[in-house]
Amino acid sequence: MMDSHTLAYLQELMQSATNGETSRGTIENFMVTLRKEFVFDNVAVYLQDEETGILEIAYARAVGRSKDAEADAAWGDEFAGQVVKKGKLLLQNPKADVLPDDRLHQAYLLGLPILIGAEVQGALVFVRFGGPVYETDHIAIASLAAELLSALFERARWSEMREDLQDLKRQMQLQEDFVSTISHELRTPLGFIKGYSTSLLRQDTSWDAETQREFLSIIDEEADRLSLLIENVLESARLQSKTLPLRFQPLRLDAVLRDVVQRIHARHKDLDISMQLDTVPPVYGDGVRLAQVFENLFTNAIKYAPGALIVILLNQVDDNAMISFIDHGPGIPKEALPLIFERFYRVRGERTITGTGLGLYICKQIIQAHRGKIWAESTPGQGTTFFIELPIDSSG
Ligand code: ADP
Repeated sequence: MMDSHTLAYLQELMQSATNGETSRGTIENFMVTLRKEFVFDNVAVYLQDEETGILEIAYARAVGRSKDAEADAAWGDEFAGQVVKKGKLLLQNPKADVLPDDRLHQAYLLGLPILIGAEVQGALVFVRFGGPVYETDHIAIASLAAELLSALFERARWSEMREDLQDLKRQMQLQEDFVSTISHELRTPLGFIKGYSTSLLRQDTSWDAETQREFLSIIDEEADRLSLLIENVLESARLQSKTLPLRFQPLRLDAVLRDVVQRIHARHKDLDISMQLDTVPPVYGDGVRLAQVFENLFTNAIKYAPGALIVILLNQVDDNAMISFIDHGPGIPKEALPLIFERFYRVRGERTITGTGLGLYICKQIIQAHRGKIWAESTPGQGTTFFIELPIDSSG
């Protein structure tokens, strides 16, 4: 029969291991509870790295003698390796050649395997300096502790997997939405091209020169839109598989920005753009790709913040060139801000404005390939600012 004290202790031990987290605090608490009935000097928890399989210290604690538990956990490294390899409880008494009064080197080790999903993936190792030896009931408590820890780690791994799964589900949903958007996006320009060319070819109607020209320019524009769309889809696939070649060279960002603005002005004569470009040392980059990023931001500002002033700033912040791209449109809801750079993501309710959710994804990939950063801040009702940070070319 178990006495009420033991029962209360087991319950406390169980409770300290079942709060579901594998944080340092939880394990710490658990060890403190464990130590009430099970004496040890040092303890270390080793877990195998999921990718490399190398045993790493997940937790180490020294009671009393040794202050720096992590550094000191080397006492258990080799032993933990043996426990994992054999997959069973191991005991090790002090080496025979240690002097009897050298207590610190008289290590009595107890190691227990930690199982995650039926596989040995780590070890729980205790050390007592100078004894006492581990009695049967000590070993029983330590085994229970190893099982409780195993359950704790297993649960944590499950919840990681659940999160990964949710991420994957969201990706699939975005992918699905994308297919329906893209088929719509492809059909619309194609419909115009087909409609206007069929009209022009009709034998029974003759169009005056002006109308012909108007129809042809619609066909021309829609063909451009279609090819841009296809280019974006291909590019996003290449970026995802990291096969988009970049041609790096020292670049003056002010020149790149002026070029882009000139091109945008040629297409959108009424666009109100203000530029304040400081002289910033060159960055090392692909001018075509960076221009594409800026053009993308313009396209978005024109679509989502029409008719309002666009301000572009270029300045130096520490070792980076910083570009701020400010629009005065309706802004982006706070909850959508972290998502807009994801592949296929579009803000809900944006269905009336055409798009594929690829533009900002492409921008981010290009900026990251330059070892830079891109992010957005927004105040709904006042506008959005996109920030781009690019490292300044330190070679010259
Ligand atoms: P797309 O424009 O094809 O939808 P993007 O990746 O370029 O895809 O943009 C993602 C989303 O971010 C857009 O659907 C839009 O809702 C939002 N967005 C981007 N730029 C702006 C902006 N300047 N102002 C407001 N919303 C924006």
